[in-house]
Amino acid sequence: MNPDTTTAIKVFVINFLSIALQYLALAGLAWWLAYRLWKRRWARRKIIAARPGGPQIRREILLSLLTAAIFGLSTVATWWFAQQGWSRFYWDIRLHGVWWLPVSTVITTVLWDAWFYWTHRAMHHRWLFRHFHRGHHLSHNPTPWTTYAVDPLEAAVYAVFVPMVSFLYPVHPLVMALFMTFQFLFNLAIHSGFEIMPTRFGRSRWAYLISTPTSHVMHHETGRGNFGFCFQIWDRIMGTCHPEYDRRLVAMTEPLPDSASGSPGRPGEQ
Ligand SMILES: [Zn+2]
Ligand SMILES: [Zn+2]
Repeated sequence: MNPDTTTAIKVFVINFLSIALQYLALAGLAWWLAYRLWKRRWARRKIIAARPGGPQIRREILLSLLTAAIFGLSTVATWWFAQQGWSRFYWDIRLHGVWWLPVSTVITTVLWDAWFYWTHRAMHHRWLFRHFHRGHHLSHNPTPWTTYAVDPLEAAVYAVFVPMVSFLYPVHPLVMALFMTFQFLFNLAIHSGFEIMPTRFGRSRWAYLISTPTSHVMHHETGRGNFGFCFQIWDRIMGTCHPEYDRRLVAMTEPLPDSASGSPGRPGEQ
């Protein structure tokens, strides 16, 4: 077998396994903590009170493993473009200095947020939705397992991002790993089903800028508005914030008395 093909297979297997295991371990841990161990303690931060059962979770795990495979292929593409000398992927940190590592991580995160907002918004077009985004929206009440549960075509839209930016500016594998870990953890948080932001976050100025689990859960619940990923800023600028979002976030992050198990921000309370 051609040595390049052998390396490509190794790159794929290592990446697929690490993405899949990261997903299974951390989504599993979040599920066990929030939906089992501290189910009662965290109940008042549950954005939609109902708790999805087995069929939804099985579908989400299956789709997420498919996504891990597609992301594995994207790493093979990044590696292959670099092998051909086409992209700006590099290994030697000294080439662009240590300072470039945090700076390029921030640039990558800001670009990713814009890529996510615009492609996500486009996927809500009726035709694209059917082929790209329907699988993700089958979950109206997301759980940690929803994190990577997207249709293969939607996963491909996200998977092209890293190979694409490696053509725009120098990308070190460390930055790639940092970015992938950050986007996974943020993705896990916004799908957890729980509002994890600090008390009174909804009344702070940060709420204008930073996205929250409430924002994304409302997107799943209603299918409209709140298209952003880690920043709320594109939704603010483009006027696509859900009209009820700010009020609901304030309700979710208010310090509630223990007796108040139902708040106006938590529909589906049983
Ligand atoms: Zn959507
Ligand atoms: Zn989602």
